[in-house]
Amino acid sequence: MLFGRFTFGARYKWFKNWVNSEAGQRLGLALIPDGPVNLRMLRRTLALEMAYRPGGVLASKIHLKHIAVASTEGYASRPGGAQAELLTEVNKHESDRNLQLILEEFQNYQQGILPAGPGARSLTEVFASIDEKLDPAAATAPKTQRSDHDVLNLLTKRAKVLHLGPANYCWFTDPSRALCLKLAGTPTADRPLVGMCDSARCPQATHHPCHRPVWAEHVERTGTFLGQLDTTRKTERTRLQTDYDRALRVVAEIDAANTINEEPA
Ligand code: SF4
Repeated sequence: MLFGRFTFGARYKWFKNWVNSEAGQRLGLALIPDGPVNLRMLRRTLALEMAYRPGGVLASKIHLKHIAVASTEGYASRPGGAQAELLTEVNKHESDRNLQLILEEFQNYQQGILPAGPGARSLTEVFASIDEKLDPAAATAPKTQRSDHDVLNLLTKRAKVLHLGPANYCWFTDPSRALCLKLAGTPTADRPLVGMCDSARCPQATHHPCHRPVWAEHVERTGTFLGQLDTTRKTERTRLQTDYDRALRVVAEIDAANTINEEPA
C-alpha cells in the first residue's frame, strides 16, 4: 500500500485547512478547492504529476511498486510510451509476416500447388487475377519482368485480412460469413474468433501444405483413439469417427490441390 494505514479523511481536512490558511498562503501554496478527495484519486494524481517530470516514469514505477514500466505508463496515461511503441511494432511484424505468408502461397499457386478448403476457390480467384496483372503478355508496356515489390503491392490488400488459425488460414473478408462469429452470436465483430474456428466448414478458411502435418497428426491420433475405444461407447465413437473423417478429408484435399505432378489432359 502506497500511503500505509491511516485515517485519511481527518488528516486531509487538517491539511486543506492549513494550506488554505494564512500560514499556507504566506508560503505561496495554491489554494485547495472544495470537493471530494480520496486516496485512489490522490494516488492517480501523484502518478500523473510524477510521470510527466524528467525520468518520472521510472520514479513512479518504483514509488507505486509496479512490476512493469508498461503498467506505470498505462496508469499515468503517458502518451507514446513503450506500450504504444510495442503495439505499433507488433502490428508491423504481423503485417510483414502476413505479406510473406501470402507471397509464399502465391508462389505455390504459380507452381501448381493450389489452396484447399472451403475458401480455396475465392483465394484461387484472387491469385488468378493478380497473376493476370503480372502476366508479361497482358502488360501493355514493354517493361515486363515484375519484381517481388510489384507482387507484394498487389497482395497487400488480401494480406490485411489474413489471420492465422492453428491448422488453417482465415481470410476474414466478410464478418457475416464467419462461422465462428455465427456460432458465438456476434456476427458484426471486426475480428474472427480463431479459438472457435471450424475451418473445415467456414467459407473463409483455406488449408495449405504447411497445415498438412497438423491434420495428418490429428488423423493418426483420432485413429488410435478409435481403435482403443470400447464398442459400447457409441456416442464417443460417433464423435471421434466424424472427427477422423473430417481430418482425413482435409488431408486428402490438401494432397489433391497439389497439381504439380499431374499429367496434362
Ligand atoms: S471460423 Fe475460422 S476461418 Fe472462419 S472466420 Fe472464424 S476463424 Fe476465420
